[in-house]
Parts: sequence; C-alpha cells; structure tokens
Amino acid sequence: MVAPFRYTVSAAQVIFGSGSLSRLADAMTEQGGKRALILSTPHQKAEAERIAASLGPLAAGLFHDATMHTPVDVTERAMAAYNAAGADCVIAIGGGSTIGLGKAIAYRNDALQIVVATTYAGSEVTPILGQTENGQKTTVRGAGILPEVVIYDPELTLGLPVAISVSSGLNAMAHAVEGLYAQDRNPISSMMAVEGLRALKQALPQIVNAPGDIEPRSEALYGSWLCGTVLGAVGMALHHKLCHTLGGSFDLPHAETHAVILPHSAAYNAEAAADALKPAADLFGGSLGSGLYDFAASIGAPLALRDLGMKEADLDHAAELAAQNPYWNPRPIEREAIRALLQSAWEGARPR
Ligand code: NAD
Repeated sequence: MVAPFRYTVSAAQVIFGSGSLSRLADAMTEQGGKRALILSTPHQKAEAERIAASLGPLAAGLFHDATMHTPVDVTERAMAAYNAAGADCVIAIGGGSTIGLGKAIAYRNDALQIVVATTYAGSEVTPILGQTENGQKTTVRGAGILPEVVIYDPELTLGLPVAISVSSGLNAMAHAVEGLYAQDRNPISSMMAVEGLRALKQALPQIVNAPGDIEPRSEALYGSWLCGTVLGAVGMALHHKLCHTLGGSFDLPHAETHAVILPHSAAYNAEAAADALKPAADLFGGSLGSGLYDFAASIGAPLALRDLGMKEADLDHAAELAAQNPYWNPRPIEREAIRALLQSAWEGARPR
C-alpha cells in the first residue's frame, strides 16, 4: 500500500544541457532581470568575468569574494556592491559557497536569483540558507531563498578537480540516502533519490578515469540535481546533523566531511530503515554502509576524519554536540553509539 504523503513542488526553472550557459541572458530577461550582480569565489573569478562580458549591459557588476559557510560580513560587502551597481538580480556562478551568497542577498532584499551550478552540492535547488556570524552557523528556510532559475551546463564542470568532484558527488549522494528514510518522504522524492544515486554511482568512477569526458560530467550533474531536489523537499536526519556539527564546531571541510561520514551514518540507520533503504542497498551490493565505503574507497574519496584535521581528543565533545537537540532519525540517537560511529569515521574503518 502507498503510505499517505504530502508533496510540495518547488517553483524553480531548471535549464539543463551541454551549452545551456548560452541561455543565461534570455533566462534572466524572461524573469524580468535587467542588471545583474555576478557572484563567484576568487577561484572562479575568470569564469565569472567571461560570463559577465558575454552578458554586456545586463551585467551591472562583479563580486568575487564568496566564501564557504556564507559569513555575514561577506554578505554585507556583497549587499553594498549590489546597491552600488544598481542591480536588480544576482547571478551566482559556482558551488554551494557562491550560491549561498546569492541566497543571503535574496533573503535580505528579495533579489531575483539565477544560478549557474558548477559542483554537485545541490544548494541551488533548496530553499535553505546556512550563514555564519561570530563563529555560529545558523540555518534559515524560506520560499524567497530558493533561486528562480538554475542552469546546469556540464561543460562548466569539466575543470572541477577530480578530488572535489568525488567529495561533492558523495555530498549529493548523502542527500539522497537521508531522503529515502525521511519522515516526510513521498513517492516522488524517493524516485528522485534512487535515480540520483544510480546516476552518481555510474558517473563518479568514470570522472575519476576521464575528468574531461562530457558524458559522465553530464550524468553526475543530472544526479546532483535530483539529489539536491531531494534535500530541498524533505527533512534530513543524523548524517546532516553530524556533518553540520563537524563543519560548524570543528571547521572541517564541507563536502569531504559528508564523504567520510556517509558510509557510517548509512550503516547506523541500515537496520532501522531497512525497507526504505533497500533500493539504495541493492545498488551498493546489499549492505549499504560497507557498500558505500567500498565505493568511496574505489574512487579515492577521503575515508577518515583524522585526514581532514579532526583531533581524536575532540570526538567526545563532537558526540555530545551531535546528541544535543537531535534531528528526527530512524534509529534513536544514542550518545555512546554516536561516539562509536565517530571513532570508526575518525579511523577510516570499514563499517560492519
Ligand atoms: P564550494 O562552492 O566551496 O566550491 C569548492 C571550490 O571549488 C571553490 O573554490 C570553487 O570556486 C571551486 N569550484 C566550483 N566549481 C568549480 C568548477 N566547475 N571548476 C573549478 N573549480 C570549481 O563547494 P560546495 O561543496 O559546492 O559548497 C559548499 C558550501 O555550500 C558550504 O558552505 C555548504 O554549507 C553549502 N551548501 C548549502 C546547501 C544548502 O542547501 N543550503 C547545500 C549544500 C551545500
């Protein structure tokens, strides 16, 4: 029997395909945008400048200081640049860091947002903004935070370094795994989760072998769109809570932390959510935790928190924090079991 569900569709327009960057100007003007502030990280400044040049007078200015975890002081500088340029919309070119900055601007002034997504993190299709101030990361959710248009052009991901591609792809897969057992899941979110996992499982090993090959890049971007949409549509649980804690309180890198934790959080929930996780377990050889671990190892993903700079002495504190105000999770969040999970993840052990 189909379980009762509620399904809310997000209103964003998605333009997908090789060469779809050429649709940017039309996408912007169709939405009523006339003067865009173009956003990027320092690393993607040249790409942003090229895109601004192609937009001609539709580009009102550039701001290329986007930073991970969306610090509020950077947002304030970007808001000043937006106002000084007389902009009426933002174009974010990049991954979650740049997209977060665009969302932070729209959260404050309701700017139209167009995103050209170049990683697999999925932020472009969620109504969620995480921002940091005085060392505290807080998350807000709201319809105005969701970008109006997302362009996925796989050609822009050809230069995404293999190591970032691998971690970012596993970050996307984590959204899908948690989406499968979400309390508020629905048949559409579950279909998207399984298809997203399938696409990324197929694409990531091919990207490792041939990073400049457009076909797996396209498949991975398609998978990341699906997984991101799941993140935006249903609630997350233990895995995201743990990664939020490790990133926010111990300054661990975002995508890599997701990559290390995923096999362990999946193993933690494997029994309690066995039915919901079955399609994912089937994809990874029957046992999801060890299957994901072997997959991550085979594509050269980071496997141990100690390799990301986490100190063993901090694991007790991390377990305390993760067990405080826990998100809903299929298996109860027990401090001792979380401490054991963190120990395995710190050592890089294969989950049993
Ligand atoms: P990122 O945006 O920080 O990108 C990592 C690095 O890769 C940057 O230097 C970037 O410029 C570079 N890069 C990106 N695309 C590239 C490309 N195609 N070619 C070459 N270099 C490229 O990393 P991320 O993992 O995408 O985002 C992490 C941030 O996003 C975190 O702050 C996280 O909290 C946030 N996030 C938010 C949500 C949400 O729904 N709110 C979801 C996922 C991630």
